[in-house]
Amino acid sequence: MTVVDRFIKYVKFDTESDTETGITPSTSGQMVLARELEKELREIGLEDITLDDNAYLMATLPANTEKKVPTIGFIAHLDTSPDLTGKNVNPRIVKNYDGKDIILNKDTNVVLSPSDFPEMLAYIGQDLIVTDGNTLLGADDKAGIAEIITAIKYLKDHPEIKHGKIRIGFNPDEEIGLGAHKFDVAKFGCEWAYTMDGGPIGELEYENFNAAGVKINIQGRSVHPGYAKNKMTNALIIANKLISLLPANERPEHTTGYEGFFHLTNISGTVDSATIGYIIRDHNRELFENRKKQMLKVVDFINQLYPDSTTVEIRDQYYNMREKVEPVKHIVDIAFEAMEAVGVTPIVKPIRGGTDGAQLSFKGLPCPNIFAGGHNFHGRYEFVPVQSMEKAVEVIVKIAEKVAN
Ligand SMILES: [Zn+2]
Repeated sequence: MTVVDRFIKYVKFDTESDTETGITPSTSGQMVLARELEKELREIGLEDITLDDNAYLMATLPANTEKKVPTIGFIAHLDTSPDLTGKNVNPRIVKNYDGKDIILNKDTNVVLSPSDFPEMLAYIGQDLIVTDGNTLLGADDKAGIAEIITAIKYLKDHPEIKHGKIRIGFNPDEEIGLGAHKFDVAKFGCEWAYTMDGGPIGELEYENFNAAGVKINIQGRSVHPGYAKNKMTNALIIANKLISLLPANERPEHTTGYEGFFHLTNISGTVDSATIGYIIRDHNRELFENRKKQMLKVVDFINQLYPDSTTVEIRDQYYNMREKVEPVKHIVDIAFEAMEAVGVTPIVKPIRGGTDGAQLSFKGLPCPNIFAGGHNFHGRYEFVPVQSMEKAVEVIVKIAEKVAN
C-alpha cells in the first residue's frame, strides 16, 4: 500500500472529536479507526502493540543494529476537527495540477481557487487530494498517520537501513486539546519524539504560544431605567469599559509572528450582570506573565471605578515547548538535516497556537512538530499534495537513519 492508498482509506473513517462528551476517546469512531490501525500494524509485523481503552495505540519497530541508539517516536492523532463534519469524506485526486480553479462541488458552487489560496500555485504539476466540498479532508492528521505507517513499513522492508528502536503512537482528541492528557509517556518510553502534525511541506516547529484563559464576571445593579439616576450600574457598560482598556493593536487580527495578544472570545450579559472571556497568548514567557498582570491591573482599575463589581479568574492552559526542546536542540537539528537530505527546504517558524507536542514536552517527552503536508486544515478547502506526503515519509526514514549514526 502506498502512502496515498493508506490516506484515502483512513479519511473514510469518521473520527470527528467532540468537546461535549467528556469521555476518552470523545467519539467512538476514533476507536474504530484505532482498531483498524492496530490490525495493520500487526500485519506489518510490529511488536509491543497496545491499544488501551482510551484509544491510545502504540507499537514498536525493534532496532536492527547492535549499536546503542536512542529510542525515538513518531506520533499522529486519530481525530479530525469538530469545526466541520468528517463524515462521508469523499476525496478526489487532481492529477498534474494546472494552476487553475478546482471545482470541488458543482451543486453547491464550492471552488478551491488560487486567487483565494495562492499557496496552491507552488504545487503546479503535482497531484492534489481535495474534498468534494461537503466535508473537511482530514489530512490533519490522517496524512501524519499514513506517513508514519508507510515509513515504518519501508524500514521493515529495507533492513539494510540501520536504525534504533522506533516507537509509534496514535492518540485521540488532539483537536479538542486532550490528545496528550492520557498519553502514557513512560509506557511510550522514548528519549524524544516527533508529532507528524504540521502543515505544508518543510514545516518544522518547536515553539508555540504560552497560553492562558481568562474568565471575568461583572456584577451590575439593575434598576428601572426611569428611576435609575445615581442608582443603576450597567454591567454591559462596565464590560465595554474593561474591553476598551486593553490594547486595541494587540489582538489576533493585528498580530503575527512572535507578537502575542489578548483575544476577546465571548461576552454575554444584561444590565444586571455580564461575563467576558479572553485568551492570552505570547511566545515569550516573561511577556506572557506581564500580559496576565496587565489583565489583573485592568480589573483592579475597573473595581476602582465601580467598587466590587468585577472578579477575574486566569488559568494557564499550556506553555511554549521551546524551554523543553532548546536544551536538547539536536533533536530539531536532526529533523532539519533529514529534510535537507531528502531535498525539502526546512521552514522553521513559531506556532501561533499549541500542539500535543507542547504538552508532551512538559510531560517529559520533548516533541517538535514536522509537516504532514496539508493546507487549509479544518475546512472544506483542505487539500494535501501527494508529493508532500511522499516527502514526509522520506523524512521519517531519514530521521531514523540519522539517529542511528
Ligand atoms: Zn492536527
